[in-house]
Parts: sequence; structure tokens; C-alpha cells
Amino acid sequence: MRIGDLDLLPMSDGTFVARPAYLTRGPVPDPPPAPFGPDGVAWLPIGCFLIRTGDRVVLVDAGLGPALTQLPDGMSLVGGQLPTALLASGTLPGDVTDLVCTHLHSDHVGWLFDRDGRTVFPAATVWFGAADGAHFVDGDGAGELADHVRAGFRDGATDAKPVDGDHTVAPGVDVVATPGHTPGHLAVVVSGGGHRAILAGDAITAPVQLAEPSWHSFGDVDPDQAGRSREWLWEELARPHTTGTGAHFPELRFGRVTSSSSSRTWR
Ligand SMILES: [Zn+2]
Repeated sequence: MRIGDLDLLPMSDGTFVARPAYLTRGPVPDPPPAPFGPDGVAWLPIGCFLIRTGDRVVLVDAGLGPALTQLPDGMSLVGGQLPTALLASGTLPGDVTDLVCTHLHSDHVGWLFDRDGRTVFPAATVWFGAADGAHFVDGDGAGELADHVRAGFRDGATDAKPVDGDHTVAPGVDVVATPGHTPGHLAVVVSGGGHRAILAGDAITAPVQLAEPSWHSFGDVDPDQAGRSREWLWEELARPHTTGTGAHFPELRFGRVTSSSSSRTWR
């Protein structure tokens, strides 16, 4: 995808096998809505995005890493594909100048550090929300990070740049505070040539949440605040010359919100 002079390339580290229980404990229509199949299972990506802007190479999110995680209700995450996807795009880990973590959940930081806590991307500045650092590295959420990832952050194994809110990372690449899923969650806005692509991270789990506004990720740290951030993103995604996708949207397809007097639709 071209955004003005920028290249934007979606890639996936693996698969998130999800079920409606990830989004709701309430009744689910039969058959369940997309992205769930008739069997109630969705095979979703673990999305990452590579952006080339001038002499900067920006990677958004670092996948689950070489890991398989079983979740409740028959759900799971399996990672491991990001290095292959990077190489296929002609990118070596040492080429990455900036790595933006939309948030510090395990399926977004998996390739930051190797098992000894050493950086995998030696030339990269690692950007993330300061409130996520306080929560997941030093605070109540520390148990959710793998030991070697937490050690990598704590030992200063990478050039970490926590940000307090909206910030320009590279020309045409901005992060915007979208808290709720995690305290310091960041969306990434890629802009150029009068167009914008919004990478919503996990602030929106799936487009079905536009029609089902009460459905929220069971990973949300603050569901009410997450709902407000999600609504703000839907409004942004209805603006002209704007498209977007989330880290787990089916096939990482980009879309936008179209409105009629009575309803809003994702297409
Ligand atoms: Zn995620």
C-alpha cells in the first residue's frame, strides 16, 4: 500500500484462533457474525506493519514471537512468522530504525528480545505508551509479560522511548493515545499525499464491534475507557481520505466507516 511517499506493508506473525467468547459473554447470533465461521471459530492474524518513510524503516508491533499460547474457551495464539515475513520483504532485523508497540501485550512484543533478553532489532528505537511501561514492566500487569521480555525492558537492552501521548515517530508516522485496552495503548496514523491509514492496534479487535458496540476484548484493562477510544476511532475512520485496520482484523484488510442516517457500516 502507498500512502503518499510512504510504503505500508501488512505482515502477520501467526494466527489468533478466536471465538465469540473473546468479545462477549452474552448471547451470540446463530450463525455468528463475521469474522466467526459457522463453527464459531475465527482464524485471525497477529498483525504487524512495516512502513518505509525516507531513510526510516518503522515496524509497528513485534508479534507473539516463537511461542504458542493456549487461551480459555478453546482459543489460542501461535506466532513465529515475523522474521520470515520481514525477510520476504527484503528487510533484515538490523534495518529497522523504529519499532512502535501499540501496547505491551504478549502478542505485540514477542520478537523484541531473544530468550536471553537481548534485543532482536539492534538499530531500533522502541516506542510505546509510558503508561504501558508502568503497568506491564513495573506494575500490576508485570505477570503478563514473558520473563525475558520484562528483563529486556528492565535491563535497558533496547533504546526504549516511552511516550506520554500523541507523538511524531518518523515523517508521516504519528502515534495517538487510545487508552483502555491497555493504559498506554497507542494507535498509529500513517499519513501522506492527503491520505491517512490508521493502525488501530487492539483498540478495535474486529469490525463486528461497530454493529455490536457492547462487545469488547476480554483483554481490555479498562473496558469503559476502551469503549470511548473505540468510538473515537470509528469517528476518525469515517472521515474522508481515511482507511484503517486493526492488528487482528481478518487478513489485515483495510476499510472505513460509511454512514447512512440510521446506521454505520464497515466496508
Ligand atoms: Zn493483540
